[in-house]
Order: sequence, then C-alpha cells, then structure tokens
Amino acid sequence: MKIRTGFGFDVHRLTEGRELWLGGIRLDHTKGLLGHSDADVLIHALCDALLGAANLRDIGYHFPDTAGEYKNIDSKILLRRTMTLLREKGYELGNADITVCAERPRLNPHIPRMQETLAQVMDTDTDNISIKATTTEKLGFTGREEGIAAYAAVLIVKP
Ligand code: MG
Repeated sequence: MKIRTGFGFDVHRLTEGRELWLGGIRLDHTKGLLGHSDADVLIHALCDALLGAANLRDIGYHFPDTAGEYKNIDSKILLRRTMTLLREKGYELGNADITVCAERPRLNPHIPRMQETLAQVMDTDTDNISIKATTTEKLGFTGREEGIAAYAAVLIVKP
C-alpha cells in the first residue's frame, strides 16, 4: 500500500455584496468571499492538498480563473473533479484535516453540515473529514475581517 500526504493553503478577500460559501454550504453573513468561483476558501485549500498529495499540480492549473467555464462555479464541482483526478491515478482519500481562520461568523455550529456535505461530494465517510475553526485573536487580515484563510492536510492511499 502506498501512502502520501498533501498540504493546501488558500485565502480569499471578504467583501460586501457577495454570498458567503464555506465548506460547500452557504452561511448567513454581512460579507462574502470574493473570487472567480464561489470563492469557497475551505474547499480550495482541500483541493490543493489532494492535488499536492497525488503530485497533480494545483487548483489554478486544472481550473484556471481565466476560463469563463469556472466563473462563479460551485467549488463542490471542482472538488468532485479533483477526486476524479485522484482516483484516475489510483488513489483514495484516507483522511483530511482542515483549519479555517475567520474572526466572524462563528463557524463551529456549521461544521457538522460542512463535514456531511464534503463527505458526500468526495464519496467518503464523514469521519474522514475533520474541520476545525479558529480565530487569529483579531490579529492580521483574518483578525481584521478582511479575508478568510484555510489550511488543509490530507492523507491519500493507493491499495
Ligand atoms: Mg481560491
């Protein structure tokens, strides 16, 4: 059995007049994340971790933000395609561990629904998807609520 690890990181800017999509679900908030896609920063970090683990470059390589095809696209579609790329190379997800840095909104009440949503998209057990929320104690761009950052670590296995 072959085991590999991957790591992903992403940031998106918070702005008024956009919906906030995080972990594949829409959250009620005064601001949303700005991006070419729905800007789901959590999913983007996860995709990059998966691609990195399989040595398949990065999310921008596969889904360029210059392509009209991906304008305002639901990031769950990108995650599903990423899993297909992974499986085409013979890998399956072991587990994912994700940390989101956001001052607001409070994410903890929404984590179970994010886990269920991502597990369904990735065709894996909910128990394989860990999501953690933290603030940065009002420090830095996340602390000033200018943006949200996400980090993801994954393990993938080839039987
Ligand atoms: Mg991104």
